[in-house]
Amino acid sequence: MSLLSKLLTLIENIFIYPTLRVWGLSILSILRFFSYKSESTKKYLYDNTLNDIPKKKGIFHPQNKEHIIRLIKVAHSNHATIRVVGSGHSVWEAIYAQNNNCIHIILGGDFKKIHSINISSDGNFALVNVGAGCHLGRDPNDRESSFENSFNFQVDQKGYALPILGGMSHQTIAGFLQTSSSGGSLEHGIADVLEEIEIINGKGETIILNKKTNEDKFNASVVSMGLFGVITRATFNLPKKYSVEGTEINKEFKDSLLVNDKGHYRKLHDALKNNEYFHMNWFPQKYVQRTSQWNGNLVSPELPKKPYKHLLKEKFMNVLAALALRISNLTEIIIGGNLAQRIIGLVLRTFIRIRKPVHFRDLWYKVLPNDDQADVDRLMKTSYTEIWFPLEKIDEVMGTLERLFRRKPSYAGTFAIELYGAKNSPYWMSPSYKRDVFRVNPYWWGRNLGDPYEFFEEFWKVLLPIDGARLHWGKYMPKPGEIYGEHIFGINYLRHCYPKLNNWLDIREEMDPDQIFVTNYWRRMFDIRKNI
Ligand SMILES: Cc1cc2nc3c(=O)[nH]c(=O)nc-3n(C[C@H](O)[C@H](O)[C@H](O)COP(=O)(O)OP(=O)(O)OC[C@H]3O[C@@H](n4cnc5c(N)ncnc54)[C@H](O)[C@@H]3O)c2cc1C
Repeated sequence: MSLLSKLLTLIENIFIYPTLRVWGLSILSILRFFSYKSESTKKYLYDNTLNDIPKKKGIFHPQNKEHIIRLIKVAHSNHATIRVVGSGHSVWEAIYAQNNNCIHIILGGDFKKIHSINISSDGNFALVNVGAGCHLGRDPNDRESSFENSFNFQVDQKGYALPILGGMSHQTIAGFLQTSSSGGSLEHGIADVLEEIEIINGKGETIILNKKTNEDKFNASVVSMGLFGVITRATFNLPKKYSVEGTEINKEFKDSLLVNDKGHYRKLHDALKNNEYFHMNWFPQKYVQRTSQWNGNLVSPELPKKPYKHLLKEKFMNVLAALALRISNLTEIIIGGNLAQRIIGLVLRTFIRIRKPVHFRDLWYKVLPNDDQADVDRLMKTSYTEIWFPLEKIDEVMGTLERLFRRKPSYAGTFAIELYGAKNSPYWMSPSYKRDVFRVNPYWWGRNLGDPYEFFEEFWKVLLPIDGARLHWGKYMPKPGEIYGEHIFGINYLRHCYPKLNNWLDIREEMDPDQIFVTNYWRRMFDIRKNI
């Protein structure tokens, strides 16, 4: 072989092939994205019996229970699939139907409002009944959503608060509950305050499930991924409002909580245990090796405020961050290897600067969802897979991740891995059912070239074999049939993870015997056989 052809082969192997492949995968992901239909099937949009129900962009916006019951009846008689969209923050397949005979709905009207706030005689608690389509905070993607009509703002005005929120607060009440979303706390969980839910099942019946009087059905239904029916209301027993006081600090890895002591990640474990609210971003790239740590504790709302300011609060900073992520992603694809790692190190380290700790103290709903300040829905749109482990597995999990990045530095990606916890939950399908958990949440920037699925697979391969691993229902999940360690991902694996799965499937069947809420994605996940 001539020197020239050797050179060409080399270029082809190290440069063109991987680049084309990544472009190919990106085009595939884009095609896959557009192949999902968020619209309801045309014939329902023009159906005379449904034309008084408001519609926007091919999605019905039922305003009251009668509208929902009518939509369910129509779905029923046409063997259509019916799915509810919250604020649409979960992966597409987890929300939308994947067939050509579907009705998609977003709760409107009464379902977006708080119905009643009853304060206890001692004033310490408020029983709040709210429509399940109400957003927790303001959803920038919903023109009708504002701070003033958000759940958090309204209950805060009355002097009460939720004990926990996720990293952002765009979600609807039902969307948050249905995927078992949780904030970073081992001490506070949504189950501490959720008293009751109302659901319209697949038979069009309205069912009220109370945490005490219908314990089993309630614990089965709160986390059910839209597969039991339409959640229409929720009732919370809220404690008094509070502020959160805390610190955000960036550290070199060697000075961070991630340094282990003979394989024990005690500092990280203690930080999860000793802070009421805690999460951290780990940048494990070979030449970055930094962490950004956020911790907070509950204090009196009367104390003077010191607002939290996110690094990406200004639009300009989001543009710069997006540029840094774009450069890092292209560098990894085009150059690869150690040189790419060095460039990524240079770029990301300018963002994750070592500076003095930043202190803050402000109201719960302004501080806990700290990513609300960043442009998470557009420039910083990100995909995730999230794996939850029993807290005592922290050493095994962290050790496994460190080994993975040493073996293949590019698996560290070009963004962050979030590490945080969640309190044990009574909900049967919650990944923290009956145990406190440590959570690993690798980020894939939404505008990266390449396939997030391929990136997440590397994490599934090494982390899913760890006993007790369970995945977040609203984020990327492996495909049933894939093998991880000694498990084939699918129904048997899930049975192993969730001791109440069979009972949950029985209740699902009872709630929706004609399977009108079942999509192909969930059918495969839970091996729900088609009715003959
Ligand atoms: C930027 C970002 C940050 C995030 N931060 C966190 C975090 O800190 N912690 C965490 O745990 N998760 C987090 N998530 C995940 C997010 O909380 C979940 O995806 C959540 O389900 C989104 O709520 P939603 O209102 O958008 O619901 P959707 O994503 O629209 O729906 C979620 C599921 O609920 C069903 N559903 C919605 N409404 C109803 C209803 N009324 N009745 C029946 N079923 C219904 C849908 O069909 C779907 O199956 C984050 C996601 C993003 C994009």
